[in-house]
Amino acid sequence: MLITGAAGFLGSHLTDRFLADGHSVVGLDNFITGHRDNIAHLSSNPKFSFVEHNISTYTLVDGPLDGVLHFASPASPIDYLKLPIQTLKVGSLGTHNSLGIALAKKARFFLASTSEVYGDPLEHPQTESYWGNVNPVGPRGVYDEAKRFAEAMTMAYHRFHGVDTRIVRIFNTYGPRMRPRDGRVVSNFIVQALNNEPLTIYGDGSQTRSFCYVKDEVEGIYRLFMKGDPQPTNIGNPLEFTVRQLAELVIELTGTTSPIVAKPLPEDDPKVRQPDITRARTMLGWEPKVDLRAGVARTIDFFRGLVGTARMAGTA
Ligand code: UDP
Repeated sequence: MLITGAAGFLGSHLTDRFLADGHSVVGLDNFITGHRDNIAHLSSNPKFSFVEHNISTYTLVDGPLDGVLHFASPASPIDYLKLPIQTLKVGSLGTHNSLGIALAKKARFFLASTSEVYGDPLEHPQTESYWGNVNPVGPRGVYDEAKRFAEAMTMAYHRFHGVDTRIVRIFNTYGPRMRPRDGRVVSNFIVQALNNEPLTIYGDGSQTRSFCYVKDEVEGIYRLFMKGDPQPTNIGNPLEFTVRQLAELVIELTGTTSPIVAKPLPEDDPKVRQPDITRARTMLGWEPKVDLRAGVARTIDFFRGLVGTARMAGTA
């Protein structure tokens, strides 16, 4: 298996999942948002090899491949605001290169797409048949449109070249190995709570998200790779919470004395988000098992282990 973005949050967990089932994995990452620590435990695994490389540039992979899984991309709103061109390139050129490798190797191709293709949705919950409400020229457009292009490119390789393809639309996922300063709501709140800093709620905190623990997400992705079909498939946890509820849960579970403070709501921030996972349930026999309280508690444990490190401070 070739996994792009293998040193990222999801890519590294997915690498572990494939290795656990006896597959060999070539991991590829250029570390613009991934981190070496996420794959350090694999350094002596004979079934894992790693190439430091940017998939948005020409890529040559030696030997046969059964699967190409394209997980490389900045994926948190502050990352893709800081890296807009790289985000557009990895979704477009990076997807094209990954598809080219899959075609040449006669491998199955798997695209990590996103609930962001639904934009600020006018249908709730979101089923795969919804086409979305995306602002192409807003700050999120660089990510949303790159992923929408990536989906179109994947379907073109499927229809025109006959490549066996999969598209997962990933909803908000959290857990160990998130970057402490990646700006996402779960990591932000936990890091703020552990540092006794105020928890920053953007807007009034009534916007909703549906949070999936990484182990559940990766299991859904693995099953979709193995027994799914080429149509896009939502993988996420349908239990929906307001951002304020999440802040209150983090305060309770960490025991912090941090207050909650309000900050401005970012432009085009989706007001609601909840996956309809009927398709994944029916086709894959999959559903999430870890509830928010248990998952957040495990994630707090991970971040507690980073307290005092350069990684926690955001300098490494
Ligand atoms: N958010 C927040 N405080 C933070 C970070 C994020 O209130 O410190 C909000 C953000 O405005 C959004 C939600 O939490 O409504 C989820 O944000 P995230 O960046 O995790 O991902 P998104 O789902 O927006 O891509």
